[in-house]
Amino acid sequence: MGAARSALESAVRYTLQREQFGRPIASFQLTQAKLAEMSLEYTKGLLLALHLGRRKDTHTLRPEQVSLGKLNNPRAALEICRTARTILGGNGISLEFPVIRHMNNLESVLTYEGTVEMHTLVVGQALTGIPAFR
Ligand SMILES: Cc1cc2nc3c(=O)[nH]c(=O)nc-3n(C[C@H](O)[C@H](O)[C@H](O)COP(=O)(O)OP(=O)(O)OC[C@H]3O[C@@H](n4cnc5c(N)ncnc54)[C@H](O)[C@@H]3O)c2cc1C
Repeated sequence: MGAARSALESAVRYTLQREQFGRPIASFQLTQAKLAEMSLEYTKGLLLALHLGRRKDTHTLRPEQVSLGKLNNPRAALEICRTARTILGGNGISLEFPVIRHMNNLESVLTYEGTVEMHTLVVGQALTGIPAFR
């Protein structure tokens, strides 16, 4: 979620500096909608991580709860970076800005934190009592 925060901050800064049609792109409603959505998903992911961390501190954290966090947060962070990349236009693929670097890194996080498929199956098992791994 730290990578997502960095991408969000970069995107906000960029929208205030970049002008098109005589106005900063921050003044377009479609751009603001993207920023609002990114902020919403960032906040949800951050609160989820905080909650899971607190459960860990009190030794009440369960494996399927870890899966909920690992299923949501890398995916949400990656989507935030992808949206930030669109906001930066052509500069979104430049290493001059941190967004594409975070995005590429998050692609590997999506695998090394456990795959979406596995975390989905862990949550599915917790809900139904039925393991669908094989
Ligand atoms: C950069 C990087 C760093 C890593 N660091 C670590 C580390 O520090 N510690 C560590 O332990 N591991 C680490 N890993 C390994 C990582 O955890 C595994 O790559 C990951 O769990 C996926 O395992 P796999 O590569 O064997 O893929 P596979 O198990 O072969 O899976 C391939 C695909 O098939 C899917 N799949 C597999 N079985 C099922 C099933 N039953 N039902 C549905 N779909 C299924 C998977 O979800 C995935 O999409 C790292 C990996 C990378 C890329």
